Amino acid sequence: MSDSLRRDPRREQIRRNRLHPQHDAVLAAMNGTDSPAEWLSAQGIKRRNPHLIGFIGPNGLRRIDRSGVQGGAASAAKSPGLTVDSRPLHHIESPAAYVVVVPDMPGGRLSALDKDLLGLAQQLASRQPETAVLAVVFGSYKELGFADAGVDRLLHLTDAVFEQYSPELQLARLLQLESDLQPEYWLFPDSGLGGGDLGRRFAVQIDVRAATGLWQVRQDNEQLQCICRGAAATVDITRELPRVVLALPECAEPVSDTRHEAVAFSLRAGQVESLQRIEDMGAVGVDPASVSLAEAEFILSGGNGVTDWQGFHTAAEVLGATEGASRVAVDDGFMPRDRQVGATGTWVTARVYLAVGISGAIQHLQGIQTCEKVIAINTDPGCDMVKRADLAVIGDAAAILEKLIEKVNALKQETRHVA
Ligand SMILES: Cc1cc2nc3c(=O)[nH]c(=O)nc-3n(C[C@H](O)[C@H](O)[C@H](O)COP(=O)(O)OP(=O)(O)OC[C@H]3O[C@@H](n4cnc5c(N)ncnc54)[C@H](O)[C@@H]3O)c2cc1C
Repeated sequence: MSDSLRRDPRREQIRRNRLHPQHDAVLAAMNGTDSPAEWLSAQGIKRRNPHLIGFIGPNGLRRIDRSGVQGGAASAAKSPGLTVDSRPLHHIESPAAYVVVVPDMPGGRLSALDKDLLGLAQQLASRQPETAVLAVVFGSYKELGFADAGVDRLLHLTDAVFEQYSPELQLARLLQLESDLQPEYWLFPDSGLGGGDLGRRFAVQIDVRAATGLWQVRQDNEQLQCICRGAAATVDITRELPRVVLALPECAEPVSDTRHEAVAFSLRAGQVESLQRIEDMGAVGVDPASVSLAEAEFILSGGNGVTDWQGFHTAAEVLGATEGASRVAVDDGFMPRDRQVGATGTWVTARVYLAVGISGAIQHLQGIQTCEKVIAINTDPGCDMVKRADLAVIGDAAAILEKLIEKVNALKQETRHVA
């Protein structure tokens, strides 16, 4: 039999055309597998299908797996809902050392800063073999993604007192952990919510000069240096990395390339008693309208696309959101000047920013760059705010807000009946 390669131009054409109805079947027949990522061409050259390389990550983005073990994931990625997570699992059998992270967990979930901190913790842990990142969580939580965020061990302290403001008892538990484990590093978020205060209390107790306002860690001649903001964020201070760190947002990239185990961890020693000198009298209701934009957690912001301002104010009241605005809405006299969001207004850090009829001009986007989740309501699906948003609703703002008010009111009514 002749050794010459026989070509079937029609089948090759179908194989090249991903939209052809017989594309998958022809690929499988030519290679004896289901939709392979690699095959030998008629000329004997190794070919790769770039559409099948990599896998879809948890945030919906395509990721390239450089280890090359993602054949199964590749075909699964073609069928939505069947995604196989092929990120390598970071397994630590019995940790020899620990890097401890005490996340803020606002609303019971890891914040963006908490995730950055876990990314930094993994960087520090990777310098020594068998070093685990241990996260300490006080009270109940709703988070499901500890393993994805880079937690190797999870210490969940469930005492009822941790549901309230109890920094002294939290500190007592951390000191117990310090004497049990002697971790390599302690990482706290340098935030007003809890980590900033708890981290400073802890550093004083163990007599370490903490690095506060840390935004970068780098290696200089085998030594780890950290750069911290000082003098009201006007200067950068470079110093050797101490054991206790209070870090700022974007201090490191969050973990995305590896999966972790988040194995439950428990304190070894018995209960620690501590003098509780602070009594939590409960939360005080605050009118969202009186909250300053810079501190607001949930902002409903209106722009030039808002036609029904009365409906906008009602929506803010029903949702319990703080009101913000674009410069055009302010210039047109619909909103006061102190409500302007953006480069020449207030830079906001809300957990949820709901932009209604705002196009997303660069000056506006600058002011919302650290917001955690952005939702856009706009008639233009191609505008920059929709591109920036995590969720977009395309349609007329007045009609959508009206429906939203109806839904929220109905939900409130239902909850009142159940209670
Ligand atoms: C030096 C300088 C500094 C500035 N600083 C700031 C600043 O700090 N903050 C700021 O915001 N701007 C600032 N601006 C202005 C900025 O460039 C934009 O002009 C402004 O942000 C646009 O506001 P807007 O998105 O509300 O309006 P537009 O750009 O007019 O956008 C309106 C949007 O509403 C949508 N829309 C229209 N009708 C509807 C409807 N019925 N339902 C839903 N959506 C609808 C449209 O599709 C559009 O996307 C600055 C400009 C300069 C030059």
